[in-house]
Amino acid sequence: MDNKIKLRNAGLRPTKQRIIIADILLNGFNRHFTAENLQNEISISGNKMSIATVYNCLKKFKNAGLIKQVESYTDTAIFDTNNVSHHHFLNEETGELIDIDNNEINLIKLPDIPKGFINSGVDVIIKLKKNN
Ligand SMILES: [Zn+2]
Repeated sequence: MDNKIKLRNAGLRPTKQRIIIADILLNGFNRHFTAENLQNEISISGNKMSIATVYNCLKKFKNAGLIKQVESYTDTAIFDTNNVSHHHFLNEETGELIDIDNNEINLIKLPDIPKGFINSGVDVIIKLKKNN
């Protein structure tokens, strides 16, 4: 599907900047990235975008459900083009995330949800370190 149509279908006006980002992110491959990673790829593709604009676009993409933001232990936000519910392995040394399919994890016990709240999703992160 044309990325302009993908943006429109998600309720986003297909601005030049959003199309540049959609062309990089919405190519069918699942990946994890930071805004800085993306800004780098934008400049490799021959375009220029300020980090504030990149963040702004990513926020819009996230709110439109085109990408997800992964819970992260660092100050840097990590985004995910796999917007289906899933979990992650985290390589503690490199920060690399690897997807885990939802049905690979079976949660047998969860605490009672505090009053006034509902469970809006459980993200499991299995931290990896070298066994040596
Ligand atoms: Zn993921």
